Amino acid sequence: MSKGMLVVFSAPSGCGKDTVFKEISKLRDDVVESVSATTRMPREGEVDGVNYFFVTENEFKNMIDSGGLLEFNNYNGCYYGTPVKGINDAVEQGKVCFLIIDVNGAEKIKELYPDCLSIFLLPPSIEELEKRLRVRDSDGEDIIKSRLDIAMVELSYKDKYDYQVVNDDLYECVDNINKILSAELEKRG
Ligand code: 5GP
Repeated sequence: MSKGMLVVFSAPSGCGKDTVFKEISKLRDDVVESVSATTRMPREGEVDGVNYFFVTENEFKNMIDSGGLLEFNNYNGCYYGTPVKGINDAVEQGKVCFLIIDVNGAEKIKELYPDCLSIFLLPPSIEELEKRLRVRDSDGEDIIKSRLDIAMVELSYKDKYDYQVVNDDLYECVDNINKILSAELEKRG
């Protein structure tokens, strides 16, 4: 079986990266996601072990101390980290393993895995991004504002990624990413 690929997938909060990932995984049976650990509270509908491993700060610190995380970051007051477990196995088994992480985590993963593919998802415009963040009414005004500030910083990292894809029309965006994945797998043999 040929080897798979590690894909670092980043986007400012509100760009729809989870929806895009869900659609890509419906199209391709070789796609898997590495489930991160976080100290953030679950949003409505989020399931422990599926969207994230929701842990306490103490549990997160224990994961760091025992070498259980490849990288971690504090984003908007909460910790997020990529578990070591599972990534190498997935790639060896021919899977396209997505790490849906922020720009800081992406830098670290690119150092550790120079062969990884990196994709940055862009909003159609800043106005649209703000609108999308407001529609997701589970977050209060303070959180929306600080996510928007972080988004502006994150957007300045976009040129460091191998590909930038705009999420305007969802299905066009998913189609573009699907084509990128197929072309990269082909190129890598
Ligand atoms: P959210 O709270 O919206 O689910 O995620 C906030 C940010 O944390 C997003 O940019 C998301 O991609 C990022 N994130 C999620 N998991 C990880 C991780 O394991 N490591 C890092 N560095 N960032 C992560």
